[in-house]
Amino acid sequence: MSLTLPEARKSAESEAAPGGARVEFRGLRRAFGPTVALDGLDLTIEPGELVALLGPSGCGKTTALRVVAGFEQPDSGEVLLDGQDITRIPANRRDAGMVFQSYSLFPNLSARDNVAFGLRVRKVGAAARRERAAELLDLVGLPDHGDRYPHQMSGGQQQRVALARALALRPRVLLLDEPLSALDAKVRAGLREEIRRLQLSLGITTVFVTHDQEEALSMADRVAVLNAGRLEQCAAPAELYERPATPFVAEFVGTMNRLPGRMSGSGTVEVAGSRLPVDGPVPSTPDVEVLVRPENITVTASAGGAEATATVVSASFFGSVTRLHLDLPDGTRIKADLPSRDAGALRPGARAAVGLAERPVLVVAAATAAVTASASASTSGDAL
Ligand code: ATP
Repeated sequence: MSLTLPEARKSAESEAAPGGARVEFRGLRRAFGPTVALDGLDLTIEPGELVALLGPSGCGKTTALRVVAGFEQPDSGEVLLDGQDITRIPANRRDAGMVFQSYSLFPNLSARDNVAFGLRVRKVGAAARRERAAELLDLVGLPDHGDRYPHQMSGGQQQRVALARALALRPRVLLLDEPLSALDAKVRAGLREEIRRLQLSLGITTVFVTHDQEEALSMADRVAVLNAGRLEQCAAPAELYERPATPFVAEFVGTMNRLPGRMSGSGTVEVAGSRLPVDGPVPSTPDVEVLVRPENITVTASAGGAEATATVVSASFFGSVTRLHLDLPDGTRIKADLPSRDAGALRPGARAAVGLAERPVLVVAAATAAVTASASASTSGDAL
C-alpha cells in the first residue's frame, strides 16, 4: 500500500472546513464510582491546532475526548466550542468527527457506504452522498476502494476510511482516540504523517489521544500531559522536553536520570561534583534528587585515578547516538547519551569521568516515588 496521498491534496482546498473551532475544557470532573477519571481538567485548544493528550494509562485521556464528542457527560464543568457551551448538546448535534482505535467500521457496509453513513442519516440524497464519499476516499488516498468491505482492506486502509467517515460532515473538530495503535510500526509512521498533513490542509482543530509519546511529540502543535485527571502542562513538544513545568512531566516525557544531590543555598544544588542552578520549586529538605537528561551528562574515558567517577555497565548503539549505562561510586545507575563517534572506548567495564552540563535542573525531595512512565509510554526504557 502506498503511504502517500499524491492526488488527495488537490481536493483539500475545496474540502476546507469553515475553519476549526476553539475547544475549551473548563473544570471538567467525571467520576465512575470511586474512580476519578477527570479531576478538574482545564485546557483550551485553539482553532486549527492539533493537540495530543498524553499521559499514563487511566489518567483520563479517553474520558476527556468522549466528553467533547458527547458520549460522556461530565459530573461538573463545561465544554465550549467557539465559546458556546455544548456540554448538554447530544452527540449527533455536535460539530465533531471521531476516529476510534480500531474495528469501528460497519463490517457489512462497503468503504463508500461507511463514509456516507452520516450523510444518509442526515437524509442527503444518493447522488450527493456518492459524490461526497468519492471526494473523501480520494482525500485519504483510497480512490479505488469504494466497493471494498472492511475485511478486504488492511488495518491502515480501514483507518483511512474511518478518517474519511469522520470528515464526511465537515466537522470543525476531529477527535482521534489512539487511531494508530493497532497498526504495525511502519504503517503507523506513514499514517501519522498523512493525518498531520490532512489536518493542516483542512485547518481542522484536532484532539488526538495517544499513550505513545513519540507519536504525540512528532505530530502535535502542543502536547497536553495529563496526570490523574488533571492537566500537568500543555506546551509545544520542544518546550515540554526542554522546560518541563513539573517533575512529573520531566520524567514522563523522554528519559530522565535521578541523581542524589544536596541543596547548597542560593538556589543551587551540589550533584556529582557540580553545582547547578535549580529550576522550579525547591523542596524543604536539603537532600534531594536531581533530574538530569541523558544528553546532559558528559562521559569521557579515563585511565582511573581521581577523575574516574563511574564504571560503564553497558552500551547500546542507536546509530548516531550511543546510550551508556554507568554506575556511580555510590551505586546509582545512570544513563548517558553521547555521539557514537565518541563512545568507542567506553565498553562495559571501562572507567569513565562523568560531568554534568551547566544547565538549570529540576529537583525533587529525596525518595519521592519515581514516575513509572515505562508502564505506559512506548518510548520508555532505552528508547531515546
Ligand atoms: P488508557 O491510556 O489506558 O486508555 P485513559 O487515560 O484513556 O487510559 P480513561 O479511559 O479516560 O483513561 O479512564 C480513566 C479512568 O476512569 C480509568 O481508571 C478507567 O478505568 C475509568 N473509567 C473510564 N470509563 C469508565 C467506565 N465507563 N466505568 C468505570 N470506570 C471507567
